Amino acid sequence: MIDQIKGLHHVTSMASDAQTNSDFFTKTLGMRRVKKTVNYDAPDVYHLYYGDEVGTPGSVMTYFPFPGMRRGRPGVGEVDQTVFAVSKGALPFWKERLASFGVKGLKEGESFGQKRLQFAGPDGDGFALVEVDSDSRAPWTGNNVGAFEAIHGFHSASMRLRDAGATGDLLEYMGYEKVATQGTVARYAIKGGNGADVIDIETLPSAPRADQGAGSVHHIAFAVENRAAQLEVRRALMDTGYQVTPVIDRDYFWAIYFRTPGGVLFEIATNEPGFDRDEDTAHLGEALKLPTQHERLRPQLEKHLAPILD
Ligand code: ZN
Repeated sequence: MIDQIKGLHHVTSMASDAQTNSDFFTKTLGMRRVKKTVNYDAPDVYHLYYGDEVGTPGSVMTYFPFPGMRRGRPGVGEVDQTVFAVSKGALPFWKERLASFGVKGLKEGESFGQKRLQFAGPDGDGFALVEVDSDSRAPWTGNNVGAFEAIHGFHSASMRLRDAGATGDLLEYMGYEKVATQGTVARYAIKGGNGADVIDIETLPSAPRADQGAGSVHHIAFAVENRAAQLEVRRALMDTGYQVTPVIDRDYFWAIYFRTPGGVLFEIATNEPGFDRDEDTAHLGEALKLPTQHERLRPQLEKHLAPILD
């Protein structure tokens, strides 16, 4: 079994408009944009990162905004909901705030004994805020979101699968433990994680497959401390029969990717070196940062990419 994984690192989704996306995460949810770069594999598209002050692994929501992209159709074989942790008693604030910003899909409920407020992102993205007993992760504050209400980081990600079996086995191999079930949902949690410790799997045997587009989660990444741990995880996954990519340098972390049995794309990302490697902490996310291999494209990209106003 693998014991190097420490919870979620980031969640990456797709959007149809960079400005709307940036406004939603910073002005509505009060998170910090910690990096403005491009999709390294398609540099004419932004890659935007939001999180806490420094983009601590476990707090980082990232987006590829493809201008005008059509919406995805939810279904099985994908992550349907990304869930953020807030303090106990913070949900009434959020209910009122999200409604005042015109956020759609607001729905209060309870899941595994925790109060939850579901809502939709600008492209119909599935989100929820959940109240947790204690969360020592320091939240980013601003835009009239105070320390009591602010988002601490991820609580969980939930997947919808036709058959949870093989993916559940994989999570257990990755160090997760099945801790509870509620209706069609099985909850997995990791001990000694970074706070973003939970994965839920909902089994829907006869639901249609998801058709990915704007508002869909592209992949979820799990955190490992460093490159040595990542290589150990890579070897262990390959020994188990998974096809895993070579290690890819993403400038702010190193990444490996593999497709899970249920169809969801998983990544393992390192906590090192972090988002402050090429910008002062005070100015994270302000300038357009390009990886070395695309720096020669800067003049074209600065003309092509619509500026994001803060
Ligand atoms: Zn990623």
